Amino acid sequence: MTTLNAPLADLGLKNVRIHLNPGVDQLYADAIRLGEGVRAATGPLAVKTNKTGRSPKDRFIVEDDLTRDTVWWGGFNTPISPDIFDRLLTKMVAHAEGKELFVQQVYAGTDPKHRIAVRMVTEMAYHSLFIRNMFVRPSPQELEDFQADWTVLNIPSFKADPATDGVRSDTFIIVNFTKKMIIAGGTQYAGENKKGIFGVLNFLLPERGVMPMHCSANIGADGDTALFFGLSGTGKTTLSADPTRRLIGDDEHGWTDTGVFNFEGGCYAKVINLNPEAEPAIYRTTETYGTVLENVVLRQDGTPDLDDGSLTENTRSAYPIDQIDNRQPDGMGGIPRNIVFLTADAYGVLPPISRLSPEQMMYQFISGFTAKIPGTEDGVTEPSPTFSTCFGAPFMPRHPGEYARLLAQKVEASGAKVWLVNTGWSGGMYGQGKRMSLKHTRAMINAALNGELDSVAFEREPFFHLEIPTEVPGVPAEVLNPREAWADKAAYDETARKLARMFRENFKRFEEGVDPAVTASMPNPDA
Ligand code: ATP
Ligand code: MN
Repeated sequence: MTTLNAPLADLGLKNVRIHLNPGVDQLYADAIRLGEGVRAATGPLAVKTNKTGRSPKDRFIVEDDLTRDTVWWGGFNTPISPDIFDRLLTKMVAHAEGKELFVQQVYAGTDPKHRIAVRMVTEMAYHSLFIRNMFVRPSPQELEDFQADWTVLNIPSFKADPATDGVRSDTFIIVNFTKKMIIAGGTQYAGENKKGIFGVLNFLLPERGVMPMHCSANIGADGDTALFFGLSGTGKTTLSADPTRRLIGDDEHGWTDTGVFNFEGGCYAKVINLNPEAEPAIYRTTETYGTVLENVVLRQDGTPDLDDGSLTENTRSAYPIDQIDNRQPDGMGGIPRNIVFLTADAYGVLPPISRLSPEQMMYQFISGFTAKIPGTEDGVTEPSPTFSTCFGAPFMPRHPGEYARLLAQKVEASGAKVWLVNTGWSGGMYGQGKRMSLKHTRAMINAALNGELDSVAFEREPFFHLEIPTEVPGVPAEVLNPREAWADKAAYDETARKLARMFRENFKRFEEGVDPAVTASMPNPDA
């Protein structure tokens, strides 16, 4: 179905065929017709993309009166001039002439008080299906008088010329807060659509007293909300899909005066080596019509081979949250009672679960630590540390201190308990030890959320001053204290000191402007 140009007339687009709010059937047909992907034998639309992850170095924010003093420039927030934005937009509009474009009118945010209305204009049919799955779909009534606050224009076939266009490569994602627009070219990775709007909310919401968070969220049987912060691969999606708790969302939430709300209407799960027994709910989405499977290799018979990482290890399933049976239908929950910071510590040093004081919470939130396992190709055998402030530096336009203060206020007012959970290595660093068992991690988290750790004794380890429970139902005691889990105690001490030094080194850039009590809770490499 094509309609007239009218919905995009303001962009100056000429002679384009527009598909307005196409549904799943049509988007399958169009994606297949345009050669973007195929229908997997199990139901999903399977696509391959030129980039298999985000392009954080090609992301820019227009620097103007609105952003000059409000954005924290440096790191991932790279300024670009309004002129460059305008010129690229003009070129994109010219490039789009004669093409067909897909438009989805969606919300970012389940809470009607805080959501923004977005018009997502994409060249790829598969992006349109991804957006339909991942954003909040308006009701037919809401669509009738839908007024977009923001517009995203994403045209992967438009490639910038770094020599003349003022960008770094042929790929760019530029946010313009004044014009309320994001333009993107050069990359087919659909995750840019979702994380682009995430960055917008992360800029807008703090001004309204709402804390935007890179976290998953779920609700227990007695209505208690839990949040799970963490960098990529630490377990936000995996651990929030808990059979005993209702899922609110797996990646992006806001904390208001009354509770939390999901920014999204779907989930974006990693599916490499997905185990149907350990993660049945996520596995089922790979066998469901409507799901988008990104860079998953299909076998000869058209079924997905989830163990095949030959295109990328970052294979993904994007599905509407309705595919998860045990979900919270309105995407909202009450004030959190527990907050879990997830880290996948490939050094095997941090305890599998520990309790954080308010100062330690600030310290860990600002540090945002995880450790990647060594890459296979370059002969590196040591893990590499990642410190990404607020557990999501690439998505946070403001100064980390702003987010940290807002979170601290909310946590204090709520009395929520805060936990640090290491979903990474145990019994030795990557190579010697092994990954923490998912079963044990789930048991530890459930014990914390159910209040079962309120009555057990805790011991304090010397390097990070973390309080470790001495017993957790369903978990062998020797797993709980990381030093006990290592056969070679001297090696543990040495590795712990090394990690403590890395924490301190990283934190130097934040020390100024942080409460001295927070700085006093720093790890101690001399213990
Ligand atoms: P992203 O921000 O990229 O979406 P994420 O935080 O949602 O990342 P997951 O997609 O949940 O992370 O990835 C965690 C991965 O680690 C999964 O593949 C999961 O199966 C695996 N895993 C192995 N052991 C554990 C454990 N003990 N706890 C959590 N995840 C584990
Ligand atoms: Mn996730």
